Formats: sequence, C-alpha cells, structure tokens
Amino acid sequence: MIGLEAIHKSFADVEVLRGVSVAVPERGVTALIGPSGSGKSTLLRCVNLLELPQLGRVTVGAMSLSFEPGARHAKNDVLALRRLTGMVFQNFQLFPHLTVEENVMEGLVTVLRWPRDKAQERARALLDKVGMAAKATAWPANLSGGQQQRAAIARALAPSPEVLLCDEPTSALDPELAAEVVEVLAQLAREGTTMLMATHDLRLASTIASEVVFLDRGEVVEAGPAASLFGAPQRERTRQFVASLGG
Ligand code: ADP
Ligand code: MG
Repeated sequence: MIGLEAIHKSFADVEVLRGVSVAVPERGVTALIGPSGSGKSTLLRCVNLLELPQLGRVTVGAMSLSFEPGARHAKNDVLALRRLTGMVFQNFQLFPHLTVEENVMEGLVTVLRWPRDKAQERARALLDKVGMAAKATAWPANLSGGQQQRAAIARALAPSPEVLLCDEPTSALDPELAAEVVEVLAQLAREGTTMLMATHDLRLASTIASEVVFLDRGEVVEAGPAASLFGAPQRERTRQFVASLGG
C-alpha cells in the first residue's frame, strides 16, 4: 500500500502541505482534486521523493521513510523508494531523441541493467497493452498528444512500480484524445494497478477512482469514496469545488 502520513512541506517560509495524510490501498485508485496551487503536484512529488518532506512518513509497498527536521536520509534509500514508483506527467515528457519503444526500454536498460532484447520484449508487451504496438518505432514528435501520453504510461509501468502516480494526465489533451487516455487508465485500474492521480477531469476521477481526496491550501478538506464525495459532499467547500468541475 501507499501511504503519506502527516506530511509537511514548505518552500522557503511558505507551507504548501500542512500535515497531509493520504492512503492508497493496494490495487486501489485514489484521485486528488483541488484548486490550482492547493498542493497536488507537491504531494505526488513527495510520494516519489522528488520533493523531500520536512516532516511525516512516506510508505510505498514494503519501504517506509520517516522525515523530521535535521534527519538525513541515505541517498540510496531515497532512490530505492523512488524506484517503486512510476510517474506520468501532464506534458508527457517523452525523450524526443528516442523512439516510442526506446522510451519504454530506457529505464529498464540504463537503471535496471536489463539486456536490450528482454527490455524490448517488455516494451512491446506494454505498448500493446496501451494500444500503441503499431507506433513502437515512431518518434514522439510524430504522435498525437493522446498517443504520447499512452506511450508515457507504458514507460512508467515498465519497471513494474508499486504505484503509478499521475499528475493531471489528461489536462493537456483535447476531449477526444483525453478519452483514449482515460480508457487506458480505466483498463489499468480494472487490472488492479495501484494509482494516485491528481486531476481536474471529473470523468477521470469519477469513473476510475475508488477514493477521492479534496485538497485545499495544503490541507485535506474531505476524503471518501468517489460516489459520496461527488454525490453528497459533506463540506461546503467541497460542494463548491465539485460544482466548479461541472459535477
Ligand atoms: P497544484 O498541483 O495543486 O496546482 P502545486 O503543488 O504545484 O499545486 O503548488 C502548491 C504551491 O506550492 C503553489 O503555491 C506553488 O507556487 C508552490 N510551489 C510548488 N513547487 C514549488 C517550488 N519548487 N518552490 C517554491 N514554491 C513551490
Ligand atoms: Mg499541479
């Protein structure tokens, strides 16, 4: 399971996460919603330790690291925990000088030292899963945004992470292309991929997430099953925000 416990994160003197706790059960999907600037991206970056919290505990699968002022962490522990995660970004971030298939193979070959043929086999299987088998040798620049994002999802899944972190995976896409990405993420959810995703996409959150966490100004305002958070929010701030999403 994936857990954040009482995470505090400040940049200079601005406290961006103020004691946030979020748990994603194994094979569960949790959506993070909240206004721009509420801390969603920072929270995701605290799970893979691209940002180190000042305080709190981060758990991914069997690994758990505690943070407190003055404590130092072995770089190896941070890297080991990060390798249990995969990340999908709003703007895809494929390597432009590598083909689609090479993008998916990259981490397996350079970080995990897989032999190229084994990495290629894995890449092809994953590209098939996301409907991109026919584009394995294409260059990212020649793909639509939806195709690039599906390739990026395959790349994030290549090392079999414990959790797939998605930061607004559909928000750079036109509705039609967003739909094909939603479809791929929905399929992964049905197969039991553990996911934590920040999104403004009501369709994405309501069709895929089992749990939803509403974050505002660095605090969890309300959290619960998707159906009740969207259908019958308890807090007025949640109600207003959900209404602003078009729900
Ligand atoms: P969201 O993803 O919900 O829009 P973010 O996590 O990106 O929110 O940002 C939350 C707040 O933290 C914002 O006020 C943002 O300006 C600030 N912030 C994020 N990253 C940094 C950083 N590296 N340095 C300083 N401030 C940051
Ligand atoms: Mg963000």
